[in-house]
Amino acid sequence: MRSIEPLAFPADADGWAAFASERPTTAVALVADIDARLIAASDDLDAAARLDLWNDADLALRQATSEAYLLSEAHPDAAVRAIAEEQVQTLEALSASRLLDGRLFAAFADLGDRDGGALDADQRRLLDHLRRDFRRGGVALPEADRERVRVLTDRDTELSLEFSRNIRDGRREIRVAPDALAGLPQDFLDAHPVENDGLVVLTTEYPDLMPVREYATDRATRTALVAAYNDLAWPANDAVLAEILAVRAERARLLGYGDWADYETETRMIGAGRPGGGSAAIAEFLARLDEASAPAATAEYPVLLERLRQDDPTATEVTIADFFYLLSTLRRERHDVDAQLVRSYFTFDRVLPGVLDTTARLLDVEYVPVQIATWHDDVRSYDVVRDGERLGRIHLDLHPRDGKYNHAACFPLAPGVTGRVLPEAVLLCNFARGLMTHDEVVTFFHEFGHLVHDILGGAQRFVRFSGVATEWDFVEAPSQLLEEWAWDAEVLASFTANADGEPIPADLVAKMRTADGFGRALEVRRQLGHANVSYHLHVDRPADLQAATERWYASTSPVQPLRGLHSYAGFGHLTGYGACYYTYQWSLVIARDLLSGFDGGLMDAEAATRYRREILEPGGRRDATDLVEAFLGRPYAFDAYREWLAGA
Ligand SMILES: [Zn+2]
Repeated sequence: MRSIEPLAFPADADGWAAFASERPTTAVALVADIDARLIAASDDLDAAARLDLWNDADLALRQATSEAYLLSEAHPDAAVRAIAEEQVQTLEALSASRLLDGRLFAAFADLGDRDGGALDADQRRLLDHLRRDFRRGGVALPEADRERVRVLTDRDTELSLEFSRNIRDGRREIRVAPDALAGLPQDFLDAHPVENDGLVVLTTEYPDLMPVREYATDRATRTALVAAYNDLAWPANDAVLAEILAVRAERARLLGYGDWADYETETRMIGAGRPGGGSAAIAEFLARLDEASAPAATAEYPVLLERLRQDDPTATEVTIADFFYLLSTLRRERHDVDAQLVRSYFTFDRVLPGVLDTTARLLDVEYVPVQIATWHDDVRSYDVVRDGERLGRIHLDLHPRDGKYNHAACFPLAPGVTGRVLPEAVLLCNFARGLMTHDEVVTFFHEFGHLVHDILGGAQRFVRFSGVATEWDFVEAPSQLLEEWAWDAEVLASFTANADGEPIPADLVAKMRTADGFGRALEVRRQLGHANVSYHLHVDRPADLQAATERWYASTSPVQPLRGLHSYAGFGHLTGYGACYYTYQWSLVIARDLLSGFDGGLMDAEAATRYRREILEPGGRRDATDLVEAFLGRPYAFDAYREWLAGA
């Protein structure tokens, strides 16, 4: 094993408050020292030395910021989460203010051709990115505008933290009569006893929401729980979101961009070759998805409505509270795929080792469990090892609890820098502890795709390019690609077992794959609805968020939103993804094409090795377009996505 040590957590629960405040304080002091040296930089510091110093400061800041974000979303103690949020605010403010500091910029802006010419490709790339970061940070603006950008950037951080906190703390409950649970599996009923008032409590947490959405035959039950979920963090987040949108619009304008989408896309794949940003390119891409998915969606919708009318002859439209139930029901009736039978093969205790074994074989690594104290007893930690060398460490925090992030995501914890910092990353998910739906298994593989990208892309000289540091609209491609392994009969047979110990049969998986093709275009249109909302909220800036959002959802997909609700208040991606929720479909176009590289089988060793080397290990050291072309041997194309959309 190489000598760099993983991050050491406090040995006992009392140590976390100090950990959460002291590590950022140390980082801030270190950055101040480095910045003083850079500002004083004279001829004794050549270009390479300046870049190394910048990297040292960047590393300290990224480590502290990653830790603080993780604790703010995952620590069980609300007081520690509050400290972590404060530290996020401080650290983000420092990062932003460095990019507004003309004295720091001077250390890089005036690097002459002689110095620049002495740089190797990695250093050159870092210098180019750094100058771009400074420009986008606002360093070149007149002083009054710089001050205003500083205020706006800090305010965005503060509001985004508040937006996330309201969602995290926003769990809702409904109470229903026991017979309202018709259709739900026995283990679900056993876990939801009748309370003293004769009613059963359902929460908006995923282990309740997902099965109710999919299995409850009672339309009123589905509608009530989905409605509660659609009002998560409302009304609290109404004003918060309105101000986030205002702050971003003003910041984009001050920085010289047409709108926030122009600002965001300038550094993404979609904005390449579009000076000033690619806001219009998002609109074009969404129109292309609209055109590609419309025919199949138009054919699928009447089938759903007709099936709904068997349950409820008065139904006039399919709503989002019916969608997953109807898909599941039709897949059972038309394709002989019973979601509850499928679920009986996926116990959490088997899925976890299954995901680990599958990705270990694919990526030629081992996961070695490590017994360490972390922020919660639910967390499982593993070293990622190849040939006896520790490449990184992962932490899996997979079940819901109060005050925890309530979606599914991968959080960086330590950005890998070769010989200095071991890459570490964390999954925060909310899986059931017993039987899992197949959807949950797909999500698990998806998030694992991000996790291994962070670890295997974490052997970098410069932290700027460590892990998932590619163009942001590429980041979902490796995770969406890995979802395919959850649809492979051989892979699933290797770890699934029902109560009798039998693995999921290959013919059932084949039927699942066929059945999954039905409703796909409608699902893409649901995603397109999210993408439209994320884009138009930031670009059109409507005065009435509720009315505008409802209109975009209603006009994008034939499956209708529930009326009068406020799903944007709980749309957590609006902070991190901003105007760019289109990312999911953009990445999916690439992911579908990347799969063609595995035509010799998903576990094909040659393809897997090439994938690891060409796509994951480079991190952000090369442009994503080049990574994809290196793997495929040609530029990527839209065709595979179009075929997939047609049900292939
Ligand atoms: Zn993802």
